[in-house]
Amino acid sequence: MTPTKNDYYEILGIPKNASEDQIKQAYRALAKKHHPDMNRENPKAAEEKFKELSEAYEVLMDKQKRANYDQYGHAGVDPSFGRGGFDFGRDFTHAEDIQDIFGSMFGGGGGGNSIFDMFFGGQGQGQGARRRGRNERRGGDLQIRLPLTLEEIASGVEKTLQLKRYESCPDCTGSGVKSGADIKECPACKGSGEVRQVSRSVFGQFINVGTCPQCGGEGKIISKPCQGCGGEGRVKKDATIKVKIPGGAADGNYLPLRGQGNIGLRGGPAGDILVYIEEKQHPLFTRHGDDLLVGISVSYAQAVLGCKIEVPMLNGKAELSIPSGTPSGKIFRMRGKGLPRLNSGGSGDQLIKVEVWMPQKLSGEEKKILKQLEELQKNKVPGACKINPGD
Ligand SMILES: [Zn+2]
Ligand SMILES: [Zn+2]
Repeated sequence: MTPTKNDYYEILGIPKNASEDQIKQAYRALAKKHHPDMNRENPKAAEEKFKELSEAYEVLMDKQKRANYDQYGHAGVDPSFGRGGFDFGRDFTHAEDIQDIFGSMFGGGGGGNSIFDMFFGGQGQGQGARRRGRNERRGGDLQIRLPLTLEEIASGVEKTLQLKRYESCPDCTGSGVKSGADIKECPACKGSGEVRQVSRSVFGQFINVGTCPQCGGEGKIISKPCQGCGGEGRVKKDATIKVKIPGGAADGNYLPLRGQGNIGLRGGPAGDILVYIEEKQHPLFTRHGDDLLVGISVSYAQAVLGCKIEVPMLNGKAELSIPSGTPSGKIFRMRGKGLPRLNSGGSGDQLIKVEVWMPQKLSGEEKKILKQLEELQKNKVPGACKINPGD
């Protein structure tokens, strides 16, 4: 569905080991250059470029996402962006940085669009609130890697995860306030959490809206913080979480456990736990989508004469009839014996690749018989032949 994506490091023109500062600098320079408002002759292309830059920035500035990207490429981060891939309004979490870059350029006097309004305005309900204020208190997501064997992936499995996460502070029930102390409206912003700065320059009047420095955007000031949590309203605790993985999951898939991540500051909503599936290597089987491939060796005589062989299955064994004259490399298919299909139902197949075994050492008697065979067959070998690239 999505076209091939460019490498995030190349997009930003930075080396793989770039520091956070280097990433920031590169993004700043390129974002300014490609901002749609700066490219009036081709705003559509500029917008695409700008989105691409922002996606790269979003991933590389996030330690976990960057690690996933370094290890798995786009497949390691794409699922975290939800339906339709990276969406600026929904997935870009560095809005403050952008305002930082463009605040004075696009602040615009007399009700002009700020960068915020351009990207976050008109998004409809919900996500617009992420801009600032309340949602800054949402707790972080926790990302967990869950290594599974192919057997577990085939059957589906329930696992118990041990983790540490922020939970509501029991001393203050999450308020962050020492009992008996009071909460006052922030005098600097009068409870709005925002401060506006109006400045004039030769280009006109600029209005910058920023987070109130006194209350950090919350609009409230606590006179005495709770001692149990230092005023955060949350404390780190050990948690045990059960998670059910359906059959057929693939490496890099993740399962979101909504609202089970870190609880936010002072009663802010909890983030999610994202459980990333890691497939352990199997000693015999290799996975091709929902199909399982296993190799099996037969002797020359078995391949020529035909035989019945025992084939390992993920859970047990099966018998397979090899017809006479089976060439080395032929693949047999056992329908429906592969992995369950996660989304569409049904199952993939088990594929069995038959290889004719070549002995490295021969006894005198084996040599004798083979020489007799050679004598009998030497006029039947056709010589030059066409190779089937598929085999
Ligand atoms: Zn507390
Ligand atoms: Zn304030």
